[in-house]
Order: sequence, then structure tokens, then C-alpha cells
Amino acid sequence: MNKSLTETPAQSVRNLPSVDAVLKKAQTLVTEYGHDAVTRNIQSLLNSKRESILAGSQSDTDSSDISAEIVKQAQQALAKDSQSTLIPVFNLTGTILHTNLGRSVLPECALEAVVSAAANPVNLEYELETGKRGERDSHFESLVCELTGAEAATAVNNNAAAILLVLNTLALGKEVPVSRGELVEIGGSFRIPEIMARSDCTLVEVGATNRTHLKDYEKAINANTALLMKVHTSNYRIEGFTAEVTDTELAALANKYKVPFVMDMGSGCLVDLAEYGLPAEPTAAQAISAGVDLITFSGDKLLGGPQCGIIAGKKSLIDEIRNNPLKRALRLDKMTLAALEAVLRLYRDPSSLVKKLPAMRQLTRSVDELMAQAESLCHSLQVAVGKAYTVTIEHTHNQIGSGALPVKSIEGVAILVTPASGKDEAVRLIEFAFRSLPTPVIGRIHRGAFWLELRCLESASENNFIGQLDRLEDLPK
Ligand SMILES: *Cc1c(COP(=O)(O)O)cnc(C)c1O
Repeated sequence: MNKSLTETPAQSVRNLPSVDAVLKKAQTLVTEYGHDAVTRNIQSLLNSKRESILAGSQSDTDSSDISAEIVKQAQQALAKDSQSTLIPVFNLTGTILHTNLGRSVLPECALEAVVSAAANPVNLEYELETGKRGERDSHFESLVCELTGAEAATAVNNNAAAILLVLNTLALGKEVPVSRGELVEIGGSFRIPEIMARSDCTLVEVGATNRTHLKDYEKAINANTALLMKVHTSNYRIEGFTAEVTDTELAALANKYKVPFVMDMGSGCLVDLAEYGLPAEPTAAQAISAGVDLITFSGDKLLGGPQCGIIAGKKSLIDEIRNNPLKRALRLDKMTLAALEAVLRLYRDPSSLVKKLPAMRQLTRSVDELMAQAESLCHSLQVAVGKAYTVTIEHTHNQIGSGALPVKSIEGVAILVTPASGKDEAVRLIEFAFRSLPTPVIGRIHRGAFWLELRCLESASENNFIGQLDRLEDLPK
């Protein structure tokens, strides 16, 4: 007999098993996830059960069936909840150093260094020769100096922090002239004018958006000028009728008025990219040799290392920066430091970069190699997406990303998945299906198709990419 015909909702609720009763049947879960988490889950599942019975949307069953059902639901919820929210994805967006996807992937040597630093006590601020307190920056400073020609170097959490620290140290309560063409916003939350305000210095806009001359800077300099600053306009270019003062000219002007010349380089390029067949980007060494007193740049952009902001230049200025209490608040942790040191060491042999540094390896993959990969992947992809879609190959342009070289892109190859129906809805479905895979595949929707850019799909990860394609779900047949 169906009890729901005879039981009132109130009776059914009374017949629900107790938390303790369900808990007794969930001992394996308790072992795996702990008593408190399992109890909380059971409690909340029983509560919703009670509510749905009282709302009349649940026909009751035997209380032992309910226990079993709750244990099963708790198991699913706990398993889901115990997965990390930060997981690997395939970056097939065509933007190599994708800020939202974590920018640079670290090389093997850096991974080993990170693990070793994380797992052990290390001589982070301890001099092994003297047994005295050491300097955190000592682990990478000489490498940065060797690779840039700077006298001294320090590093903080990211380039935004580096700029904040430089301005707060050298320009507190004073004026900083910056060209109107360089008042950039990077990624929405970092704007030069705002970072200046937060660093407690006054921005003095000089020149015009498209043209700034040396005399504009000179007119802006007065007794309250702290330094001259140049910002690499990394995520856009001003084209057409433009004028910009060269680094050498600005360095001479700064020198004449005895103020430091600071340059925010954005991407930390330590080698001449033209030698790798890539569009040229100013290098740190060029800036230092042009007479820039301090440069700042990111560790996880073109440098290909961990997130950090490197400050390099005159020793007297670096010393002042180190003495700012904010440096302590912005300093690097031992794992980042370990990764940074390992990556910088790779630069001692620039010819090894294309093999060992993922950012450089991906940037320099040839179109022939990408095309061969596209051809070998096409069939598996076509099988996986079925007849409702057509898989084709296209030549494309890739972005380096993170603001580097915004105008000059590099050649790429993409696989396009186009719905036979021509419907936007079908494109959104395929994009979602790839994004929902165990290792989500992030591509982009463009001109009625789903584009998978292959530049960052390296052969080592290709097997995992193909292997999971049979798990694409909910595609139109
Ligand atoms: C990227 C960038 C920054 C910010 O660097 P983060 O390392 O992301 O903090 C600042 N300035 C310029 C010119 C940049 O390109």
C-alpha cells in the first residue's frame, strides 16, 4: 500500500530519519570528509526533504530508503565540494599570456624549485657563510643585474605593486610629469592616474594625447618635481601624427634637473624578440643603457616567470625603495622567489629558451608545426562533435597578450567548429560543452563558429585534450 495516501505531511515529516540515524549509515563518508562536514550536509539535506514534504511536492517513502537517498546525495555534494576551484584548463583562446588564465606557465626547473622551497626550510633571509640574517632579494638580484645591466634590483608582488612602491618611495607628496599619451588603464583595475593618487603623488599631465615633446616635460619640471616617468603604452598604440620623446632624451633631461627617470616597461623583455622571429619589443637592457634610472616590469608576462614585479636600476634608488616599510607589505614569498630565480637562470643561455621556457616555446612555434597539428587533430574533433558541426582549419593571428605588442600579432592556426544549422545557439552550445569538460577547453566564438587556437596546445598535453573529447555532452545530433 502507498503510505502517502494515508499519511498526512506532518506524519511523513515525523517519520523522517534523524540526523544520527543517517550519520550511522554514512561512516565511510565520515572517514573521508570528517564528522562535521558530513553532519552539516545530512542536516541540510534532511531540512530540504522536510520542506518539500510540507510543500506537498514530495511523496514520502520508507525512512530507510530516505536514509540511503540522503547518504547518496551527501556523497555527491561532498565529492563536488572537495574539488579544487582552481583547476587546469586548455588555453585555446589565441592569446598566449592570458591574464584571466594565469599568464605564464612555469618551466620544469621553476616547478622543481617551487616544490623544494615550499616543502623545506630554506635560507630565504639567512647567509650560510656568516650565519647571519640575509637579504631576500639576494637570490635573484645579481641575475637581474647581469641580464639588464642594472646596478641593483628588488622585486615585489606584481608590476602594479612595483610602480606603487617606486612612486610612494620617490615621489611622496611631490609631482610626477607623465605624457598624456601614456595615462593608460591596464585590465580595468590598474590606471596610472589612480595608482599615482594612491601613492600620494601628484600627476602632472604633459603634452597632448598623440604628441609629447621634450619641451613639454621641461616646462612641467619645478622644485617639487620628484621624477620623470615614462609608461610603456602596452595595450594600445597611438598611430598617425605622433611624437614621443626618446628614452635617451628624457634621461638627459632628468639628469639636467637632477631627478630620477623611471620607466614602467610593462612586459619584462630580457631578450631581443626579433632574434626569435617575433616582433621587436624594447628590452630591459636597452632601457638601462639609454640611461633610465629605474625600470619596473612584470615577471609573468614576456619574461615567462611567476607573478611578480621587478624593479631594477640605480643602487641608491633601490636602497631607498628597500627601506620603505611598504616593501615589507609587498614582498615576495619564498615560492615565487624560487621560481623567479630558476627562470632568470634560463636566460643565461638564451638559446635554451625556445626549448625550456613555455612562454617562449609557444610564441615561437612555427605555422607549419601548428598546421600539421591541426591536420592531425581534425578527424578526432569531427568524430567528437558529430554531424551537426563541421570542423575546418584556418590561418589566424594570435595575440601575445598581457599588453605586449598589441598591434603586431603573430601568425597562428585554428580549428573551427561551425554548426551546420548556422545557428548562434549551436555555437554557444559547443563552446559551453568544451568549457564543461573535465579539463575545460577555453576557445572563442567568432563569426558564427567556435575557434580553437592551437598555439598553446603543446604535444605533451595533446593526449589529454583528445582523450576527454568523448565526454562532450548535450550536443545537437
Ligand atoms: C601589465 C602592466 C602593468 C601591470 O602589471 P602587473 O604585473 O599585472 O601588476 C603595469 N604597467 C604596464 C605598462 C603593463 O603592461
